[in-house]
Amino acid sequence: MSDRILEVKNLKKYFRTNRGTLHAVDDISFSIERGRTLGVVGESGCGKSTTGRCILRLTEPTSGEILFDGVDINKLPPREMRKKRREMQMIFQDPFSSLDPRKTVNQIIEEPIKANHMIEDRRERERRVLEIMETVGLAERLYSAYPHELDGGRRQRIGIARALAMNPNFIVCDEPVSALDVSIQAQILNLLKDLQEKMGLTYIFITHDLSVVNYFADDIAVMYLGQIVEKAPAEELFDNPCHPYTKALLSAIPVPEIGKKPQRILLRGEITSPVDPGEECRFAKRCGCASRECGRCSPKLREISAGHYVACHLYGDQEEK
Ligand code: SF4
Repeated sequence: MSDRILEVKNLKKYFRTNRGTLHAVDDISFSIERGRTLGVVGESGCGKSTTGRCILRLTEPTSGEILFDGVDINKLPPREMRKKRREMQMIFQDPFSSLDPRKTVNQIIEEPIKANHMIEDRRERERRVLEIMETVGLAERLYSAYPHELDGGRRQRIGIARALAMNPNFIVCDEPVSALDVSIQAQILNLLKDLQEKMGLTYIFITHDLSVVNYFADDIAVMYLGQIVEKAPAEELFDNPCHPYTKALLSAIPVPEIGKKPQRILLRGEITSPVDPGEECRFAKRCGCASRECGRCSPKLREISAGHYVACHLYGDQEEK
């Protein structure tokens, strides 16, 4: 039986600009089962981070439903939402700018515990901070250190510790390793995986890097200009990518085997503006397979095989989702 912790239905986030309405997130729907990871992939500006922020209501959605454990959090009043947010946390991309440089490791981690009156006794709080530090692999001697005294990997461990301080069961990880060296990236990814297994966490893992998400995600949603263009279990997406944009992203992943030359698909052509986009497929100007139909109407996301959804007129005869 499916145990969905999150269901997002027809989520939209539009911004008014001087040039018109920017469709940052445009009518996307997906769900995640408890304890699993959904990777959300796409180029910068595709709406993946805005999606993560809307789900936590750090940015107010324009419309749509966000059902968390069956409750539409988009309708919760601010006070109720603050309570709910204890269960839903975020890990940010840049561990340095997301940490207050004037606060010590201890103060940064205990801040949400104090603000939410979770542990009032000072000694008990100290014990809890040390426990969380141990969980994320931060040595006790760093208790009174400042972020600028630590390397990028340790700073990101503080960011993770701060998210865990609230005992969440759902975390949006927004490019959590892209500001780190490759060797440190692996350590942080392993830590996030271990924590998921130990604590039964559910993740949305936002990244521009498909090779990272291949290691990490159970399911993958590929976003392009505010829309999901392909969604499938990770293995299926890598074995059988269908959307021309997904194929181009996959072709850009370096392959280590000697002698094997992957055919890189270079994306040329103008990028469609996300401000008042027309009815055409948003990828049409860059797509080598575009036909007349693609210039006339935007394709809907359709299921082409069990759990594999594609928004492309090349796959147009199946049931609409
Ligand atoms: Fe390319 Fe047309 Fe498919 Fe869009 S709908 S991705 S333009 S083939």
